[in-house]
Amino acid sequence: MRGISKRFGVFTALSDISLDIAKGEFLTLLGPSGSGKTTLLLILAGFEAPSDGRLLSDGADITEVPAETRSYGMVFQGYALFPHMSVEANIAFPLQVRRTDPAAIKRRVGEMIERVGLRGHEKKLPAKLSGGQQQRVALARALVFEPGVLLLDEPFSALDKNLREQMQAEVKRLHQETGTTFVFVTHDQSEALALSTRVAIFDHGRLQQIGRPDEVYEQPANRFVAEFLGEINLLPLQDLKVEGGVASGQFEDRRLTVRASGANGAGAILAIRPEHLGISAGAEAPRAGNAIRAALDDVVYQGGATRLKLKTPGGVPITLSLASQQAAPLLGSGGPFWINWPAEQGRLLPTT
Ligand code: ATP
Repeated sequence: MRGISKRFGVFTALSDISLDIAKGEFLTLLGPSGSGKTTLLLILAGFEAPSDGRLLSDGADITEVPAETRSYGMVFQGYALFPHMSVEANIAFPLQVRRTDPAAIKRRVGEMIERVGLRGHEKKLPAKLSGGQQQRVALARALVFEPGVLLLDEPFSALDKNLREQMQAEVKRLHQETGTTFVFVTHDQSEALALSTRVAIFDHGRLQQIGRPDEVYEQPANRFVAEFLGEINLLPLQDLKVEGGVASGQFEDRRLTVRASGANGAGAILAIRPEHLGISAGAEAPRAGNAIRAALDDVVYQGGATRLKLKTPGGVPITLSLASQQAAPLLGSGGPFWINWPAEQGRLLPTT
């Protein structure tokens, strides 16, 4: 995609999106409701025309090529199965449209039914299947003609949590087995991180960051990405000084250090995930790494882990996660508490 924009009247749904999708990758378009993910997928499919920009496939301009010629597989939210056709007939349909030889159709449909675990259900109508089984038929129908690209728009949003996890594992396996390029739309960050080879994060029609799941989670480019991808502590730093790749800044009565990256100028934010924080009780600050004082606000027992909510003397909220067996003796001590972490685990972000 090169400079793709989309306007609906005066409303701009997508602004200047440029990104490359590699053959065989599992790219997820992630963002809150209304961020433009579906619009971008429809442009990729050929159902919407961009207002500006070009789409290139292996270097050839396909911006004007109609959807049926692009011939991508699709599993969309509202892209229902044919209700009057059996499972078998639904899956065979794309091959019949392409006038595939009947013997080949029979073989391919059999393979797909096997692959998505629907053996024994071939003759049923969609209404007789569970939600998960219907989505398996939709996946089989989208993959049966061996498309180069499979587009999926929130395919599991209607399923309950357990079924959703099962289907996620299934989609991941289908991606690995077929080697097809998958482009997947979701607003669920854990789904995106679990499934994708790369994640593209959108907000208000703009691409915020694209990278491997661990890159976008551990090295968010800005505050939006940091907060969208899970819980994070944000500590405003004043009087920032950068020297030899290390930045230091004032947070309340403490001087904190962090690897210098991008953000510069008088102020910045030190972002740190809850799982990177340690906690100790005692009057003296720990010697190594960064340390700030905090008072306990709330304790949330979550089974294996216990989540602690704290506040710094200046009132900045801090969340951290501890193994429950470590939490009990620590909390018994009553504080005062020090929160500490190695400088390299923090991430420096611009304030805006
Ligand atoms: P969701 O997760 O809720 O589906 P999304 O990120 O997929 O959200 P889009 O469906 O791409 O978002 O919509 C992006 C914006 O463009 C929204 O504000 C939407 O109202 C607007 N929009 C989408 N299609 C049209 C249209 N045909 N006419 C006018 N506005 C539209």
